[in-house]
Amino acid sequence: MTDAVPSYVVTPPAITSLPVRGTKARFPIRRIYCVGRNYAAHAIEMGRDPNKEPPFFFQKNPDNVIEAGQVFPYPPLTNDLHFEIELVVALGKGGVNIPTGKALDHVFGYAVGLDMTRRDLQNEAKTLQRPWEVGKAFECSAPIGEIVRASEIGHPDQGEIWLDVDGKRRQTGNLNQLIWKVPEVIQHLSALFELAPGDLIMSGTPAGVGAVKQGEVMHGHVDGVGDIKVPVG
Ligand code: MN
Repeated sequence: MTDAVPSYVVTPPAITSLPVRGTKARFPIRRIYCVGRNYAAHAIEMGRDPNKEPPFFFQKNPDNVIEAGQVFPYPPLTNDLHFEIELVVALGKGGVNIPTGKALDHVFGYAVGLDMTRRDLQNEAKTLQRPWEVGKAFECSAPIGEIVRASEIGHPDQGEIWLDVDGKRRQTGNLNQLIWKVPEVIQHLSALFELAPGDLIMSGTPAGVGAVKQGEVMHGHVDGVGDIKVPVG
């Protein structure tokens, strides 16, 4: 006999979610996919040839998200904590093998996000051919602003993306410099994984990544999407 309402042996985890501009309803997060080296100038600064590599992906955990207004706590066991400003894509529909021509129908909206990275631990993992979670998927490693609905702003494919630290410009790029455009990213991802509503995709960062210290304030911006301000605690 089964109970109509299941009971659990430990407290079930909460659903992480983000605010959506213009509504009180929130966007629940299922998975977070991240695209590596998706702007040519950033691939070059990471020592790679931007022309020869197909897109690759890694993940963060849904509960790594913090939202605008929260302090980003400086994480342990790093001396080289990097910011990466990114356009975040929020999926409202899932699927597998989604063709590029239909990909944008699956997008609910967009947000401005930061792919915070323990660069020293990530570099060590690369050297030792180990996975990247210690560098990428730690607590609070995904500060993300409010979701803006595509029905409101459309699908931005050009416009400035930048990040200031304490008022000084550190990263600059343009969405039209993405090597793999949003529809192509969705097509590739949906060939590898079954996508679903609630999935977020961090689309990659432009050139200029660097270290941030305790007490500094990061201010990221994507034209047509918005801004996020995150103090480092
Ligand atoms: Mn990134």
